[in-house]
Amino acid sequence: LHQAKIGGKNNCIRYSHAVYEEYVHTLDVQEELRKDIENDFHGFELYYQPVVNIGQKKILGAEALIRWHSSKFGFMSPGQFIPMLEETGLIIPLGRWITKTAIEQCVKWQKVVPGFRMNVNLSFVQIKKSNALQDILFLIHTLNVDKNVLMIEVTESGEIESSVAAKVLRSFKDESIPLAIDDFGTGYSNLRYVKDMTFDLVKIDQSFIRNIINSKYDYLVVKQFTELAHSLNLTVCYEGVEDEEVFRCVLDLKPDYIQGYYFSKPVPAAEFEEKCLNQQVEF
Ligand code: C2E
Ligand code: MG
Ligand code: MG
Ligand code: MG
Repeated sequence: LHQAKIGGKNNCIRYSHAVYEEYVHTLDVQEELRKDIENDFHGFELYYQPVVNIGQKKILGAEALIRWHSSKFGFMSPGQFIPMLEETGLIIPLGRWITKTAIEQCVKWQKVVPGFRMNVNLSFVQIKKSNALQDILFLIHTLNVDKNVLMIEVTESGEIESSVAAKVLRSFKDESIPLAIDDFGTGYSNLRYVKDMTFDLVKIDQSFIRNIINSKYDYLVVKQFTELAHSLNLTVCYEGVEDEEVFRCVLDLKPDYIQGYYFSKPVPAAEFEEKCLNQQVEF
């Protein structure tokens, strides 16, 4: 057991070796993230997962998802390192690079598939602390592309509903940048907020889709969310459709888009071009 003294001599905090080790590990990883970001984003790569347009039976878009192959720690998932980037503020320079890379990629793919759209995730830290909107508008302007090449995804959370974040999101709206609410149904579902912010797309979280065959409750929730979203003129995407059985089941609920391993995992750009770009989907 380690001991730390904070403040006066009677304020002793005891904490376990495991907690201490984990803390040191986090600092190590953060240091490595910083080095790689400073070293021209070494080890970072965007992967792309197809977004299937159900009405047109076509892949008309993709979601850009960050990957990090650390030379020290090997492959680490975004679920692990994104919180570390948020904590250190490193998400801001990396986020800029992600947005730029994603838009440039989208411009290339639009030449093959007119109207192709790229979904990019923005963390609440980027929304609150950076000039994310100005950066995006600048990129759109210099690359001379249409504003709806991008769809910005923000994860539903208490943070996002703060007044600062709401103000920033409204300015995205004012500039006609499409917005999606991600992981819908997981934490702080506030339908009024979704309606007031006039999001364009609601992405229903994969935790509802996963058990849809066996859970009557999940099935009904997804059905109701979808009908409600449609009645508010929002489009709906289901995340996490992994197999044919689930795919068949959710088709009846009439989502506008589906994403999931059933069609493809997120893949590097070259592989996306080869296997997904401009593909018709049979069903
Ligand atoms: P998200 O935005 O909700 O992304 C969807 C996640 O679900 C991705 O995980 C994707 O690989 C995974 N997924 C897609 N289809 C399926 C499926 O059929 N089954 C299962 N089990 N999973 C599926 P990933 O890439 O590990 O990303 C995790 C989260 O990290 C993302 O959730 C997002 O919140 C965050 N993230 C990823 N890339 C970025 C980024 O570039 N910027 C920011 N700010 N956050 C990112
Ligand atoms: Mg997302
Ligand atoms: Mg998420
Ligand atoms: Mg999601």
